[in-house]
Amino acid sequence: MKHVIVIGGGIAGMQCASELLRQGVAVTIIEKEQDLGGKIRNWHKLFPTFTPADEVLTAVRHKLKISSNLKVRTGCQATSITAKKVTLSTGEELKCDAAVIATGFTLFDAKIKEEYGYGIYDNVITSADLEQMFNEGNVRLAQGGTPRRVAILHCVGSRDEKVCQRHCSKVCCVTGVKQAIELKQLFPKADIFNFYMDIRMFGPGYEEMYREAQTAYNVHFVRGRISEVSPTFDNRLQIKAEDTLTGRPLKMGVDMLVLLIGMKANAHNTLLSKECQLQMQSSGFMQPKDSFLGNVTSNVGGVFYAGAVTAPKNVGESINEGTAAAHSVIEWLEKR
Ligand SMILES: Cc1cc2nc3c(=O)[nH]c(=O)nc-3n(C[C@H](O)[C@H](O)[C@H](O)COP(=O)(O)OP(=O)(O)OC[C@H]3O[C@@H](n4cnc5c(N)ncnc54)[C@H](O)[C@@H]3O)c2cc1C
Ligand code: SF4
Repeated sequence: MKHVIVIGGGIAGMQCASELLRQGVAVTIIEKEQDLGGKIRNWHKLFPTFTPADEVLTAVRHKLKISSNLKVRTGCQATSITAKKVTLSTGEELKCDAAVIATGFTLFDAKIKEEYGYGIYDNVITSADLEQMFNEGNVRLAQGGTPRRVAILHCVGSRDEKVCQRHCSKVCCVTGVKQAIELKQLFPKADIFNFYMDIRMFGPGYEEMYREAQTAYNVHFVRGRISEVSPTFDNRLQIKAEDTLTGRPLKMGVDMLVLLIGMKANAHNTLLSKECQLQMQSSGFMQPKDSFLGNVTSNVGGVFYAGAVTAPKNVGESINEGTAAAHSVIEWLEKR
């Protein structure tokens, strides 16, 4: 029986593994965290349908449970990857017939943008923190009480030369709209402001969600970037921005500031490109062989990609790539 190692047990890696198992291939998943699921373990409801993230994860987990040809190694990290062998951080070497890299992305560290006060001022949180608060049913201010006015800032750690993140993270505009709607559902009387550079609603149902946010929920959208945040004597935050549509400077007091953090390439990708001869893009994401005909294939025979390891992607795209990568692996194995 052929044996494939899938590195990364996020939604893309899990889907890829389940499809390989279904096709009669033995699979080992290597996951550095203690549990499978990747980032979506921490998300609440998924745009654009507001499906609970847990529901999607449980369905994919269920497909994995039914096979005895699956080994899962959690709490260990792959350091070197070839089509014949994967080396773990412990030094252990695992033999295989092909490998799939599904190591996803890293959340941008909002502390790097010091001007927004993350980790310094109370009630400055990230979009990832807000997902956790939704999950815990505990969207509260640090000093207790509920927010009456919230600002959501787009493009934090994306499209930003100063922090060497030139790419658009693609999913954060729609996440900002989804989170604004969820906040309005919790606090109908609150005012929610989205500060954006451009609104990028690239997927089916996204534009409709953006319209609904305005018409049904009265979410406000301001074109402009917040330049500075400071605390006020009454535990609020004062933000300074420029409304770039009117050209006017703007000052606003808010109770909470949500930073929509970007999807950053894993630092580990540099090692993969140096030591395993896998090509990397200037953004730091891995380079697929071809954008049209080989987007789950790497430049090294027998090594494949799935999910956000090659670019920012949503959950649906990541799952589809898991399936596509499995099919490409099978095709490759059949030719051996
Ligand atoms: C704030 C936020 C909200 C989002 N909300 C939505 C939404 O509502 N709807 C939607 O469609 N999309 C959403 N997304 C996008 C979604 O998170 C991604 O599409 C999805 O997580 C990509 O899955 P993945 O498996 O490719 O990567 P990941 O989720 O990053 O999983 C990769 C896995 O690989 C593991 N790993 C990494 N390196 C190694 C290594 N060297 N060895 C072993 N294991 C390793 C990691 O621990 C992780 O478990 C959101 C993104 C963000 C940032
Ligand atoms: S998706 Fe929107 S918020 Fe995210 S980087 Fe692109 S333009 Fe900015």
